[in-house]
Amino acid sequence: MKLNIHDTFTKELPADAVLENARRQVFEACFSFVKPTIPKNPVLIHAIKEVASLLGISEKDSQSEDFLNVFSGKKIYENTKPFAMCYGGHQFGNWAGQLGDGRAINLFELNYNNQHFALQLKGSGATPYSRTADGLAVLRSSIREHLCSEAMFYLGVSTTRSLSLILSGDDVVRDMLYDGHPAYEKGAIVCRVSESFIRFGNFEILASRQDTKNLKLLADYTIRHFYSEIKSTEKERYVELLKCVAERTLKMIIDWQRVGFVHGVMNTDNMSIIGNTIDYGPYGWLENYDPTWTPNTTDSQHKRYQFGQQGNIALWNLYKLANAIYPLVEDAKAFEEILQAFPKQYNEAYQIMMMQKLGLENEQENDFQLIEELESTLQLVETDMPIFFRNLANFSTNFSVDENFKCIQSAFYLDDYLNGNIYTQWKIWIEKYVNRLRLETQNEANKKASMNEINPKYVLRNYMAQLAIEDANEGNYNLIDELYELLKKPYEEQPENEKWFAKRPDWARHKAGCSMLSCSS
Ligand code: AMP
Ligand code: MG
Repeated sequence: MKLNIHDTFTKELPADAVLENARRQVFEACFSFVKPTIPKNPVLIHAIKEVASLLGISEKDSQSEDFLNVFSGKKIYENTKPFAMCYGGHQFGNWAGQLGDGRAINLFELNYNNQHFALQLKGSGATPYSRTADGLAVLRSSIREHLCSEAMFYLGVSTTRSLSLILSGDDVVRDMLYDGHPAYEKGAIVCRVSESFIRFGNFEILASRQDTKNLKLLADYTIRHFYSEIKSTEKERYVELLKCVAERTLKMIIDWQRVGFVHGVMNTDNMSIIGNTIDYGPYGWLENYDPTWTPNTTDSQHKRYQFGQQGNIALWNLYKLANAIYPLVEDAKAFEEILQAFPKQYNEAYQIMMMQKLGLENEQENDFQLIEELESTLQLVETDMPIFFRNLANFSTNFSVDENFKCIQSAFYLDDYLNGNIYTQWKIWIEKYVNRLRLETQNEANKKASMNEINPKYVLRNYMAQLAIEDANEGNYNLIDELYELLKKPYEEQPENEKWFAKRPDWARHKAGCSMLSCSS
């Protein structure tokens, strides 16, 4: 396996002078060199050949001993020096100080086909940033990260990707239900791939220590490598940086809302500086349309990171980023303008996205109201978001209200919809929507096709990942590949896979792993 190594982070940014792999505070540095822990008995479960080919790794190479060794952390690729990044973060609204790559180890960066990638192992042992934890990851959370990052990519959402899922052969102790019953689980390692793994928190930690020198180095590095559109060499380039990060973040969140993805832990250390979805932990997919839903049990009291708040939280996080890079600019007004413009930009982008979900092309006066009314009607009884929007494309202006209603009937979880009042409210909305469709100029076949391009038929429902996890714990990995193949074409009709276009089964309603997860997931 020959890779075109091209490291930039460790070459251009300051390293921690201490080489000992002991948990500690790391000052005046962006990272610490650290070697992955050698796994006991690594076994490849799943390699993604499309990601491998982006990196110049052939399918044959991805099945080789060399691949297994390098991406399990057993062997360090020649002339590379793995490292963990130093970052801080605001967790659930509070400054948490130094966090850093506690269970991630960056291997190297490479160039291939004029593209640049950084590769990182998740779950390959302790680093100086592991604090009180072990630096390891369990198979269940690794399967969730591996499948979801690829599913998001094929949905068209900006995300880190996953090259491989490898069993480490080591046991990891976890108290999965937080009920005082820790148990051994299988350990696993995912190799993540992204242009960059820098987070808002990388800037925050330097700012919190008044390390303006390195803060500037990191900001310049970020602009140089990931924001080539920023041309200015003056201080205003940092204002432009905030503006560009805000734009990318906004786009990412709008896509989350479009597909019904709830990140679950939008702490500033989980916000990518290049606008990638990063750190798939206790994330979840909205099944019944409930904007207050969060999959994260750690957040169940305040629901800070609920579905309907993700836009606001992104802005909150951007304020923290702005505060962090402020010392480089000292122009509060310029920053405020960017941040104050965000809500309006977000609302506009949200409305355009929702109009597309509804198949509406030319904006009309009452469209905003129509969308708002839909959002409240969707909450009258449990209604499955993916099924609802997918089947909405089958509406026709030639159908009666009852006939159109039948198109979406399978999206309701309970039979209550036939209770008079709720049905009446649906009829009112359907009538308004169909009248609105009559103002469209595109024909119905085109409308349906364009709706189906953005309303996914297949998403990684929480119970689907759970089924793959249960099989994998028994040593059967077929479902991982089956789901991966399914989720590669989320917008296409796949008649042979119709069973996955179904509401969450009843058994999954309260089962651990199927709806609620904790941060340790
Ligand atoms: P997360 O909630 O996964 O984004 O993690 C927050 C912080 O805790 C990051 O600094 C992680 O590196 C660290 N962390 C999470 N899990 C572990 C673990 N098992 N071992 C060491 N550090 C961890
Ligand atoms: Mg994290």
